[in-house]
Amino acid sequence: MGDQTITPEDKRILDALYESYNIIADDTYVFICNMKYDYSRWSKELVETFGLPSEYMYQAGKIWEEHVHPEDRQAYSEGMEAIFSGKQSGHDMQYRALRPDGEYDLCTCRGTVLYTEDGKPDFFVGAIRNHSQKSHIDEVTGLRNQYGFFSDLKSYIREKTPIKIGMAGIAKLTEVNEAYGYDVGNKLLQNLGRYLMDNVTNRGGTYRLDGSRFAVISTTQTEEEFAQLYYDLRAHYRKGIRYDGRDYSIELNAGMLVLDDFNVDDQTVYSCLNFAYQESKIHKHGDLVKFNQELTGESKERIEKLHAIRSSITQNYKGFYVLYQPVVEAATEKLIGAEALLRWKSDEYGVVPPDMFIPFLENDPLFPELGEWILKTALNDAKKIMSYVPEFVINVNLSYSQLEKPDFADKVLHLIRESEANPEQLCLEVTERCRLLDMELLRNVIVRLRSRGVRIALDDFGTGFSSVGLIKNLPFDTIKVDRSFVKDIEEDELEKKLLESFTGLAGIFGPDVCVEGIETSGMCNIIRDYGVHSFQGYYYSKPIPIEDLLEKVKDGAECFAKQ
Ligand code: C2E
Ligand code: MG
Ligand code: MG
Repeated sequence: MGDQTITPEDKRILDALYESYNIIADDTYVFICNMKYDYSRWSKELVETFGLPSEYMYQAGKIWEEHVHPEDRQAYSEGMEAIFSGKQSGHDMQYRALRPDGEYDLCTCRGTVLYTEDGKPDFFVGAIRNHSQKSHIDEVTGLRNQYGFFSDLKSYIREKTPIKIGMAGIAKLTEVNEAYGYDVGNKLLQNLGRYLMDNVTNRGGTYRLDGSRFAVISTTQTEEEFAQLYYDLRAHYRKGIRYDGRDYSIELNAGMLVLDDFNVDDQTVYSCLNFAYQESKIHKHGDLVKFNQELTGESKERIEKLHAIRSSITQNYKGFYVLYQPVVEAATEKLIGAEALLRWKSDEYGVVPPDMFIPFLENDPLFPELGEWILKTALNDAKKIMSYVPEFVINVNLSYSQLEKPDFADKVLHLIRESEANPEQLCLEVTERCRLLDMELLRNVIVRLRSRGVRIALDDFGTGFSSVGLIKNLPFDTIKVDRSFVKDIEEDELEKKLLESFTGLAGIFGPDVCVEGIETSGMCNIIRDYGVHSFQGYYYSKPIPIEDLLEKVKDGAECFAKQ
């Protein structure tokens, strides 16, 4: 057995059998072996997880044996020998199997032999359950969960199947849980899960992701049908559902994405989908937001570009670099600091500015790593400037998602120690998107960092709708007034009035004011009179590489002062 090449017809039969077993193999890896040729097809997921050579293998049992833990190997090979010699017609065993990263996963393998009419062993089919792999089923709703979602999404991408993906979530589920108890919250989730199942089942998959969010993947619906599904769903839940004698009216949020381009991975797709969802939640009152046209105005290039950028994070930050834009004291025009501004560049896409990718990736699991790299790079570069301008403060932008990590403050303090900088020489800029976080949590992080000397600035002041609330409730050192408020200040009386009210508010609550986007001498002359502390803008310098900044400051902090 096993020394002939399989015929095309036998391979076709093997594939057909594989496909039919694979359909019913929930959460397990399927394998099937034509015993005459000892030729097998194994689940692609298993092949990828354990780094096997291919889905199709001659003598797969021997190849797999190499992955079985040395202590379990003898039992495994005896079991296989018993099957192939015809002594046994099935097996059921547990062993540890080696992954490419050197870890072992505990697996249960169950298989059975199928015989020909005249009683010869024909096929050996079975399933391997990997106990280290998370279950794909959500316990509350019975739907596939986020592991199931990612597993299916990966298959669609691998098989290049065009799909539409939707993410919908219940607004304010936490409040429902708090007001009426988890039991009610769970009932709503089950109800919504059921609705989605009933309306999508034959045309794709339904998943419960995390918390209040669900996803739907459809292979057949048009975009219009897909959007209609959401609007029907929304109308249905707005009307309210009845549970235990009480009516619950539910608001939803939703994002969608059309995937017809496969040079991407599942995480990038998820980040883009999540961004569309967040937009629906934050800015669109729950209207369906589609990733791509509505958000970027660009075509599908965008998602590929994001994929390339995201992959750079895992390739030692290849393509990322930081530019520095000087900050000068308003009264003297002396250099007092600089803002670190991230860039990414590749041969294919050229230079990509940060607001083209950061908002899309800030919820990505890889983002905190990138954030740390930026902080480290900026602190190390800033030290070079400090030899010439001792009080130099380096400003580093943060995404709100970085602040949310429990060890964030510790990480920052550690990086400061490592770079041997003074905490007072680091200023972290947060934007108004940080109001998406729990206020208590945010306040704790800010207070902790400030108590060690780190400064905190509120960036893009005035662009959101809770600026005043934020500076009232959180102790910022600086507010940075966005350039959109001063760009026409030379002619526009309204802008003057606005600036006056901003500096007035800062006077009441304490922080300094930095005005961004200074482009002309006329602007600085007007703005200086409002008691602004510092300036930043093209008039002094565009963002430049650290070497260029270093070159300028070698003569001292006056290098940007205009005569
Ligand atoms: P921001 O923090 O408000 O940065 C100021 C932006 O305004 C920069 O754009 C800067 O180049 C631009 N700018 C400065 N002066 C002038 C001027 O006189 N005229 C005009 N027209 N523009 C001026 P940039 O570098 O494209 O950054 C855009 C945004 O991306 C930043 O806004 C910040 O929110 C975000 N960002 C940049 N780097 C990082 C980073 O490392 N991490 C995070 N989380 N966000 C970053
Ligand atoms: Mg900034
Ligand atoms: Mg800003």
